[in-house]
Amino acid sequence: MKILVINCGSSSLKYQLIDMDNESVVAKGLVERIGIEGSILTHQPAGKDKFIVKQPMEDHKVAIALVLDALQDAEHGVVKSTDEISAVGHRVVHGGTYYSESVVVDDEVKKAIRECFDLGPLHNPANLMGIEACESVMPGKKNVVVWDTAFGMAMQEKAYLYAIPYEYYEKYSVRRYGFHGTSHMFVSGEAIKLGNLDPKMAKVIVCHLGNGASISASIGGKCVDTSMGLTPLEGLIMGTRSGDLDPAVCQFICNKEGIDINEMLNILNKKSGVLGISGVSSDFRDIETARAEGNKRAAAALEAFTYRVAKYIGAYTAAMNGVDAIAFTAGVGENDIKTRKAICEYLGYLGVVIDDAANDVRGDRRMISTPDSKVKVMLIPTNEELAIARETLRLTK
Ligand code: AMP
Repeated sequence: MKILVINCGSSSLKYQLIDMDNESVVAKGLVERIGIEGSILTHQPAGKDKFIVKQPMEDHKVAIALVLDALQDAEHGVVKSTDEISAVGHRVVHGGTYYSESVVVDDEVKKAIRECFDLGPLHNPANLMGIEACESVMPGKKNVVVWDTAFGMAMQEKAYLYAIPYEYYEKYSVRRYGFHGTSHMFVSGEAIKLGNLDPKMAKVIVCHLGNGASISASIGGKCVDTSMGLTPLEGLIMGTRSGDLDPAVCQFICNKEGIDINEMLNILNKKSGVLGISGVSSDFRDIETARAEGNKRAAAALEAFTYRVAKYIGAYTAAMNGVDAIAFTAGVGENDIKTRKAICEYLGYLGVVIDDAANDVRGDRRMISTPDSKVKVMLIPTNEELAIARETLRLTK
């Protein structure tokens, strides 16, 4: 049984075909520049050569049709017909307050995705285009939506309400939602398995540290709190996003620089974070190189990033009255040995003891704390595609 997983952006589309009998990736690929000149499909079948298709793709429908052609291609394909694909799983970013679980697509679901266009203006329209393209190219095939916000919907009112007039929550659903939910769900579940923890009671903190970064606290896999908010701008310091700040900063800078709130939000989303502090890059490898060469702002950016993560770990430990496991994932979490170590150096008060040899690794699924560490610290590569495929299988088999 094979599941096709699709993650649509406004001009791009990532896909994976996963064989659910052994959860292996049969083929994966990326379509770029949909609707703009220079459209390109890069298809990578497992164990075969890469296959590149360059031809105009006016919309997502054409792109999906080409993906299906590639999957069935005589030379580079991996299936004989689309009958071998049992269902399609889609990542959809914002489900608003409508959905807290993955769901099989119907008209109601599409309406909800549309209703959330203003909450997820960059992603939801593209996500819907991907679903509609699949419906049109593979009529009758079941599509499943896995929401990035679903995990955070388990938060209690005290964690999700902003302390602003309640009418904005009532009128416009302004509240904290959290993002990277599929990753937090997957990694917290895997942490429970790897740590041999109680599946119902385990207190887990997941640090999803990538270009976008967020942290979650969950008990028995149910979210207690997560650091992103109405949008992915809240919480940790990220590659280019500021994370938490005093909202009055916006007014102050707008007045000083003569810019409006849209420009300010663009600065907070795209020019801030470790890029903003360091002035070097949003990529931790570049910033670490700069720090090694004596760049003080690069050092300040890395220290601020690390400090913010450690501060959230403390807050989430308090929120759960304890923590059994802390898991690192995503680009920085999986690969940046020094940053993981620096964060854990703040956690002595929790009885965290890191095994430096075990931590000296990239992208492996393993325990990085010593056997006598009071909290189990782990490295768990995230796999959002597999999580989406598992959800799709669960809802369609
Ligand atoms: P993601 O958004 O999860 O794909 O993470 C991407 C980020 O991971 C990059 O921008 C880098 O900052 C970081 N990253 C990837 N590889 C390494 C590495 N070997 N060392 C430090 N940071 C890394």
